[in-house]
Amino acid sequence: MAMTEQQIQGEAWDNVVHSEGTRTIFEDRGRVLKARVKIRDFLSVFVPIVVAFIYSTDWIAKYPDYKNLALVLLSIVGVFQVLMSAWSLVSKWDEDLAYSSRAVRDNYEQREGWKELAKGQAPDFAHTFTLMKDRQKLIDSHDSERDISASDRQSGMRAGLILCQRPCVCGIVPQSAKKPLWVRKPCTVCGGN
Ligand SMILES: [Zn+2]
Repeated sequence: MAMTEQQIQGEAWDNVVHSEGTRTIFEDRGRVLKARVKIRDFLSVFVPIVVAFIYSTDWIAKYPDYKNLALVLLSIVGVFQVLMSAWSLVSKWDEDLAYSSRAVRDNYEQREGWKELAKGQAPDFAHTFTLMKDRQKLIDSHDSERDISASDRQSGMRAGLILCQRPCVCGIVPQSAKKPLWVRKPCTVCGGN
C-alpha cells in the first residue's frame, strides 16, 4: 500500500532527527581528530627546528648546563612525538578525519533534503522520498562501520531532538546538547534529563 503524504512527512521528520544526530556525532569526532592531528604535525616540525637551533647558535654554547637540559627536554618531547605518530598511524587518524568530514557533509545534505520533504516543499513528493530513503540507507550502512557507541547515539539523538524541538520517547525535549551530570529522569534513547 502506498504511503500517504502525512506518513511520508512523519517519516521525513524522523529522518531529520536521525541525520542531524549522525552529523553531530561526526562533527564532534572530526573536531577531536583535527586537534590531535594539529598537535602531532606541530611537534614533528617543532622538535627538529629547535634541535637545529640549539646546535647552530653560539650563545647557548656558553651555557652548557642549559644546553644539556634543553636537549634532555627535547628528547622527551621527541619520544612523545614519535609515539603520537605511531598511535596516529595505528588508529588511522587521517583516514578517520577524512571520513568524518565527508559524513558531516553527507548528513547535512540529507538533513536539508529531509527537512524540505517534511515541510512538504519537495517537488515530486513520493519519488524524492524513495530516492532520499535509498541514499540514507547507503550512508547509514557506511556510518555503521565507524564504531558509533551507545553514548554517541544518545548525544546525536539529543542534537536531533533539539534541532526539531521534538520530545524524546521519554516525553522530554532535551534542553542541553550534553547529558546533564545529575540525571533525574533516566532514558536510554536520549541519555536522560
Ligand atoms: Zn529520552
